Amino acid sequence: MYVAKMTIGGRAVPGTTTFEVKNPSTGQVIGTAPNASNSDLDSAVSAAQKAFTSWSRKSDDELQAACLAVATKINAHSEELATLITLEQGKPLNGLGSRWEMGGAGAWANYTSGLSLPMKVLQDNGQGRVELHRKPLGVVGSITPWNFPVMIAIWHVLPALRTGNTVVLKPSPYTPLATLRLIELFNEVLPAGVINCVTGDDHSGSIGAAMAAHPGIRKIVFTGSCATGRKVMQSAATTMKRLTLELGGNDAGIVLPDCDPKAIAEGLFWGSFINNGQTCAAMKRLYVHESIHDDVCEHLVAFAKSVPMGDGMSEQNMLGPVQNRMQFDKVASLVTDARKKGELLLGGEAGDGLFFPATIIAGLKNGDALVDDEQFGPALPVIRYRDVEEVIKAANDSQNGLGGSVWSRDIEHAKHVAGQMECGSVWINKHGAIQPNAPFGGTKSSGFGVEFAEEGLQEYTAQQVIFS
Ligand code: NAD
Repeated sequence: MYVAKMTIGGRAVPGTTTFEVKNPSTGQVIGTAPNASNSDLDSAVSAAQKAFTSWSRKSDDELQAACLAVATKINAHSEELATLITLEQGKPLNGLGSRWEMGGAGAWANYTSGLSLPMKVLQDNGQGRVELHRKPLGVVGSITPWNFPVMIAIWHVLPALRTGNTVVLKPSPYTPLATLRLIELFNEVLPAGVINCVTGDDHSGSIGAAMAAHPGIRKIVFTGSCATGRKVMQSAATTMKRLTLELGGNDAGIVLPDCDPKAIAEGLFWGSFINNGQTCAAMKRLYVHESIHDDVCEHLVAFAKSVPMGDGMSEQNMLGPVQNRMQFDKVASLVTDARKKGELLLGGEAGDGLFFPATIIAGLKNGDALVDDEQFGPALPVIRYRDVEEVIKAANDSQNGLGGSVWSRDIEHAKHVAGQMECGSVWINKHGAIQPNAPFGGTKSSGFGVEFAEEGLQEYTAQQVIFS
């Protein structure tokens, strides 16, 4: 049993009450996490405000060195954190699972530590000198979801610290353990109060809402659903907080007629089913040209059948369970509806516990719920199309605009199609391959602001222009 503690002002805080955390593969309780009170949140914000005074005055080199120390610490505890992720989130240790998540977390931490936003001289002549400085904002509140509990925390926290801010983080009530341990490790190499972590069994979002409204927090970086993102935006309005909102996606993949169906099957599968489809930028709708539709479906189904599902702690499994009952019920209900409208090619029937098999349903169209809604689970709708104009229109007919992909042997043509898609990232012949040197963020209801790279770093700063 893990008995996790919060980190507040450099101290381990158990909380007066706790809640249970379950392994979604077995249903067993694997640990407890603290329920933060309002006064715990206030203490965390005060500690972060106090630490900000000296942290924000550190030189760029000192901040870089401190962030690199964090990166080294995380990398040294990679296997321990991967195990915790698998136990509470359900994704397998292997494949595109928790070891892969930890590899990404380490890579992002290293890369982000090495970034810098030096002062820029905009003008220096007889009319005077103009300098552009980037200043930290203050205390940043980070609110994270349950699908990538460590990697998303790293995406929020490292750029905030690197630019001289201090942080209060709140993970999802479904997956608090790995994040609490991660922040304990941060705290071992950072001054007290620079990083704080509060948790709670707040499925109604009470702590997150209190953070979004808290007068001591200057910015919220939020990754989660569109519905919660709207609430965060409303709460943040009273204190005029800056926001980065990384919200839901309903990414379309467009397969053009010149593709080799067998060659793309594996990429299509993992582009959609990575982390069981519980990935913001997974492919959630697949549009296939009518001339190769049946072949693509056949090869996709054949590949899907070769992927073992089961308890992620067993090294051979490549897909785990759905993380929680609410998500499971949502996927099951969308699949039930889609089976009435389309043709079931694979899966479709709920398994034991929270295991839902990889499900592929063809014969669907825009307007069907599995196509229009973010399923966030292992169920992929396949839509047949006739011409490119029609498919671009269908792909863009969505409130979301996170990612998209185009599959073709003709890269220039694929790029031309990509340019017409209304979303923040488009991949050619792959889906969802993000990297730390490329800004990432959504359009439309998928949110605003970007993460990663220099553009992502800027989001944690206010500009100050000095004219002399
Ligand atoms: P969620 O919106 O239910 O919860 C996210 C976080 O917000 C949790 O920590 C939760 O406790 C907290 N929260 C709940 N109510 C709140 C409130 N009123 N105010 C403030 N915080 C509140 O999302 P989830 O179910 O944990 O995650 C799944 C969603 O996240 C999907 O829609 C997915 O697409 C999205 N997501 C987006 C990205 C991205 O980068 N765009 C990445 C991962 C997940």
